[in-house]
Amino acid sequence: MAQALVDLEAVAVNTRMLRRAAGDAGLMAVVKANGYGHGAIEVARTALANGATWLGVATTDEALALRAAGVDAPILAWLYPPDGGLADTLAARINVTASSVHALETIAATAQRHGRVAHVHLEADTGMSRGGASVSEWPQVVSAARELEKRGALRVVGLWSHLAVAEAPDDDGVNQQLRDFGEFRQSALAVGLAPEVVHIANSTAVLRLPESRFTLVRPGLALYGIEPMPGVVYGLRPAMTVSARVLRTTRVPAGTGVSYGWHHVTDRETTLAQVPLGFADGVPRAASGRAVVWVRGHRVPIVGWITMDQIVVDVGDLPVRAGESVTMFGPGDRGEPTALEWAEWADTIPSDILSGIGSRMRRTYLPPERPARLAGEI
Ligand SMILES: *Cc1c(COP(=O)(O)O)cnc(C)c1O
Repeated sequence: MAQALVDLEAVAVNTRMLRRAAGDAGLMAVVKANGYGHGAIEVARTALANGATWLGVATTDEALALRAAGVDAPILAWLYPPDGGLADTLAARINVTASSVHALETIAATAQRHGRVAHVHLEADTGMSRGGASVSEWPQVVSAARELEKRGALRVVGLWSHLAVAEAPDDDGVNQQLRDFGEFRQSALAVGLAPEVVHIANSTAVLRLPESRFTLVRPGLALYGIEPMPGVVYGLRPAMTVSARVLRTTRVPAGTGVSYGWHHVTDRETTLAQVPLGFADGVPRAASGRAVVWVRGHRVPIVGWITMDQIVVDVGDLPVRAGESVTMFGPGDRGEPTALEWAEWADTIPSDILSGIGSRMRRTYLPPERPARLAGEI
């Protein structure tokens, strides 16, 4: 009844644009959270066919799901339980993050128990205060990593950090983070580590901060076509359109209460449409009273509370009938709302809207045309 139509051609075009923006750096396509709601496997395949060289996910389970689907590219996962449990992950040749001596020892022990060499990316904290080793912890982390590397338990494939303030209008914070990252890198090289990839750039940084690219960039949101820098247009193409069909319409008089609590009361005679899209599908309840949808070429308001499975739309005197398509958001070029507008109505960010698109929603794909030729054009 409700569907998310994913335009993989848009993902392909965005990937190639990011690839050009990355210059000589490689491109890690971030496909965590089911590819920001778009479908991790489909997005991964499309990105890899269009120039991505790595895949990034949050959890090791997400990485294992990609391997189970036959995706063979290098994958980095940055989250796993504190006690490790990484045997399957290492067996599947998934790169894991470490930011403490304890994590390195856990990884090395698992690898040696199973006769493997773990591939590790060391994470430095340059200002997120979330994950990553601090400046004071870093010397022990890099020396321990080098020792375990010499013993053949692991290989330090990468060094990375995450930007906290890439989107801030003034660049002082992000420049400080980049300088600090450069220092973390120097001290890693000084103990003899020789990482193949060094990475910090998210979507915004890839597009606007050439000095953030190092040897690999790590965009997520931009792959899906959402402009990551407020107020700046780089020409990305939104990939997802969410729509549903009207189940029924009803003509009601002025003074009719709508949805839970009757927080909305009609101010005139009008037509209400019942649409099977709710907060369990990712329509944020917080947007109640503000959001509009697109029907028959018009923007019409959702009225009353958004409920778990349904919304009520006031279509006025438009001749809307059961079966007609209602668009929650899309690329915006026909006048339909965008994920960015939904984020504003719900007082959140577009990544929250996209990754919130529920598992109940059927995903359908527009395959890129001539993917082989497109891949060959890079
Ligand atoms: C989500 C995430 C990204 C991608 O960020 P965008 O802003 O969506 O480009 C990159 N790196 C890490 C560690 C992340 O968690």
